[in-house]
Amino acid sequence: MWYRAKFLYKGEITEGCINAFGTIVEIRKECRPDLDLSNEGLLLPASIDMHVHLRDWEQAYKETVVTGTSEAVYGGVGTVIEMPNTVPPVRDYDTAVSRLTHLDRYARTDFSLFAGVPKDRNEAERMASLPIAGFKVFPEDLESFHVVAGSEKLKVLHPEVALANSSFRNMRAYWMELASLYLVHGRVHVTHSTSLDTIRLAKSLGFTADFTMHHMLVEGERDCLSKVNPPIRDAVQRRKLLLAFYEADLVASDHAPHAKEEKAMPYELCPPGIAGVSFTTPFVFSLVFKDVLTLDRALDLLVRNPAKVLGVMYGKIEEGYPSNFVVIARESWRYSTRFSKVTQTPFDLYPLEARVNYTIVRGKVVYDGEDVYPVKGLNPFARAVRVKSLTEA
Ligand SMILES: [Zn+2]
Repeated sequence: MWYRAKFLYKGEITEGCINAFGTIVEIRKECRPDLDLSNEGLLLPASIDMHVHLRDWEQAYKETVVTGTSEAVYGGVGTVIEMPNTVPPVRDYDTAVSRLTHLDRYARTDFSLFAGVPKDRNEAERMASLPIAGFKVFPEDLESFHVVAGSEKLKVLHPEVALANSSFRNMRAYWMELASLYLVHGRVHVTHSTSLDTIRLAKSLGFTADFTMHHMLVEGERDCLSKVNPPIRDAVQRRKLLLAFYEADLVASDHAPHAKEEKAMPYELCPPGIAGVSFTTPFVFSLVFKDVLTLDRALDLLVRNPAKVLGVMYGKIEEGYPSNFVVIARESWRYSTRFSKVTQTPFDLYPLEARVNYTIVRGKVVYDGEDVYPVKGLNPFARAVRVKSLTEA
């Protein structure tokens, strides 16, 4: 499939042609394109979202792999890494195998998952042989961190001590977040940091860190819609998070969908979570169009650093790299979800300056500005995919 487009090539924006299958086969100046995207915007590597919950299985009423990844491509995301707190949870080898199979069948983006901490080291070792991205460490897992500590796989930390889970929400302080970082070691990535201090501490300990758009933008926890874990912090912490755009390694959405009826429950009972997988990329590119961020920094946050942290090959438009692209145009519009089962988020009607006109996964158009198509994503951790990338290159 030949695409003509304006794209970032070796540090310069050029117009040319890309021959895209699973990976980029050839780049050259002229061609007779199958699809001409040169007037649709700037073609860039599609984003990687390292923190999503796609639900499905017993929680298919909240979201499914199909609806969640459809929402992702609407937001310019070409790869999602899923968290293990599904029902049933992914905390053993057999469940990990069936989840990977399920994702392989239904994901419209490239995909993998972070497995939960299993019961013992043997099981952790067996699971590490699967094409997972690593392990997710929830606050309640900190006591059994030793089970995965020896694994070479990446450990993603939900940074809060277990005490946070049993605290009243207004007592759920950010020191509980900082404290948890001292309880882990090795190859650790700290996710959804709610404060700049967490990011700085993570970096000083040799870890990597991300933050979400909602912890910066949402004006306090006011209702079920804005209820999320860890909680949205006070105005000072939120403003300081602006600096995270320059200091954190990457951004993630923590896309956490719930049913409308669940979010309509009384505040004390409603489940925490915001479903923003499609918001992050257009928001970050809006900052580029407003001259708040450079294009390079935006690509670092959205795709290059996630690839680096995960240890997978994404983020460049060069022969041999995956053909996962987003076409971004400058356009004023107001955000809403579109393909997710969640129709209400705190970002509704947020004014954006960047729009995703196309998303391409593995060389095929998966979103064309109107519809989402059933393109099949690949697991970059699967050996077959890695070998194929090498031979195609
Ligand atoms: Zn999460």
